[in-house]
Amino acid sequence: MPHSDSDASPGFLSQFSNSEDLGEHFSPTPPGYIKGRTRFVVVIGTVMSGLGKGIFASSLAKLLQDKGLSVAPVKLEGYLNIDSGTLNPYRHGEVFVLDDGLETDMDLGTYERILGQNLSRSNFMTAGQIYTEILECERRGGYLGRDVQMIPHVTGVVKMKLRELAMKGPSGKQVDVVFVEVGGTAGDYENGFYIEALRELAFEEGDGSTCFVALTYIIEPAILGEQKSKAAQLGMKRLMEAGIQPHIIACRAKNPVTPKVAQKISMFSNVPMKRVFSMHDRESIYVIPDAMRTEGLDREILSILQLHDRVDNVAEDGARKVWSTFASRLSGPRDHNITLGISGKYAALRDAYASIDKAVEHCAVDLSATVDIRWLDTSDFDTAEHASHALDGVDAIIVPGGFGMRGVEGKIHCVELARTQRIPFLGICLGFQMAVIEYARNVLGWSDANSTEFNSKTKYPVISELPDQKRLEGIMGGTMRLGAQDVAITPNSLASFLCGGSKLVRERFRHRYEVDPAFIDRLEAAGLIFSGRHPKQPIMQVLELPLTSHPYFIGAQFHPELTSRPLAPQALFMGLLAAAIAQKEPAFAQTAAGRRWVRSASTANSHSA
Ligand code: GLN
Repeated sequence: MPHSDSDASPGFLSQFSNSEDLGEHFSPTPPGYIKGRTRFVVVIGTVMSGLGKGIFASSLAKLLQDKGLSVAPVKLEGYLNIDSGTLNPYRHGEVFVLDDGLETDMDLGTYERILGQNLSRSNFMTAGQIYTEILECERRGGYLGRDVQMIPHVTGVVKMKLRELAMKGPSGKQVDVVFVEVGGTAGDYENGFYIEALRELAFEEGDGSTCFVALTYIIEPAILGEQKSKAAQLGMKRLMEAGIQPHIIACRAKNPVTPKVAQKISMFSNVPMKRVFSMHDRESIYVIPDAMRTEGLDREILSILQLHDRVDNVAEDGARKVWSTFASRLSGPRDHNITLGISGKYAALRDAYASIDKAVEHCAVDLSATVDIRWLDTSDFDTAEHASHALDGVDAIIVPGGFGMRGVEGKIHCVELARTQRIPFLGICLGFQMAVIEYARNVLGWSDANSTEFNSKTKYPVISELPDQKRLEGIMGGTMRLGAQDVAITPNSLASFLCGGSKLVRERFRHRYEVDPAFIDRLEAAGLIFSGRHPKQPIMQVLELPLTSHPYFIGAQFHPELTSRPLAPQALFMGLLAAAIAQKEPAFAQTAAGRRWVRSASTANSHSA
């Protein structure tokens, strides 16, 4: 899928050819759309951001999904960027890439993981996308002499897009519930038009169609030692000034919200006590769905939206059991203990590697292992000795993705250490490229081997930008290779073992540089194996070392962390942790998990064709 949004469809505005359609009640609906059929749950934050609105909204969506209802989440971002591709992970957390190539906010990762569902560009809206669409239509003369206004035109586009999403239900049916998360907090300038659009939507869809949930925050100043509701009350007022009466109030707080505070909130915002919920801090986000259910949040939403007749109780029992097993294993005791070193420029900020953190968590639960993560800033690793000191005692190493020069040499030292000391290793994207460079330098002796991203003059540009190749793939010159692609897996390889013998897997990419095909033969002759490739082009997508030289050394040009799910942990991470456990506890290889995930002379070919 192309990166640039200008390649997307010209937008629905092009279909309006007479000014009647663009009148005061400009509120187009997609063909076939049945008003009131799809219900909308809207989550709006008050008081402040950073309350875990995405986690809250996705857990809420999960509750209804568990009941057999089809759900579609959407995040409405107020910023003017078209997507999150250019955002600094320091400021905004990681860039999460969807299957269709859209670069989004890390919250979309939360939705995918909690719902176990692939999302697409229709699940993510930014003010930049909406204004672009409107301004392009205006330049084409699409508004036929009318002045283009926030209301009805901008709000009209927002409503239309929400209804278009509602049309994307299973087998062509309308989705049961669209979950709308409004970025920022009520009262922000930049999300005002979204809130207005949602007010209009609720009116147009009719009574019982929309449930507004206000996520607020109860402060508990240390000097007072008690909870205060004033900030929450003021926040609620802001929402009500915008014409929105919340149906449910969820109070984020450090400790359970006291009845006195809940009563105040209830009274000042016309919301009955039974619909004011305490969403205090929990030990893990995965217990939130169950906690919500225990408090009856799902029951209230079903009543507000009159959805009881769509509930499948049997499906719910099954889904709850699976999830609770995962949640209880998460908080229960673990059998193994390993230390994982993760090197990266943004080591100071965990959000920048949120999906890696999560993928490790999914696998750790599955393998009953406690994983202590040691985040390493490689920018001061000048030598292999430096790296060796920092990595002392780690049982496995991940070199993750990244852009830019800083810390690159340090990462290469980490790869060297992992390779020569036989420490289980997973290189991701840039980490994969670092593994190729390390091999070229230290095994083939090409001491100045590099990526042209870091040294355009190198004699051995083993990693370089290959615009011709991208053109063949239909990717626009100069932009990144983004989104999911098929990867053909070589039989009898470690990759094939991990993927259970699959010959083709689908993984998500976000990179510009790749292995230069001119060097592939020489790298392979020296022992490096490229075990995952583009099905048609000479694009190397997985590398590994044979079992005879290393217990677990694998690299992926794609981002395996983006497809890991709590209930379906990703194979390359599973293999990494399993190999690390097996090195510490050889008996582990004989367990069921060990036989599935630890490659040995006897299991190596067990899945191959
Ligand atoms: N900077 C490298 C590239 O563009 C790696 C990108 C990444 O790790 N996501 O190819």
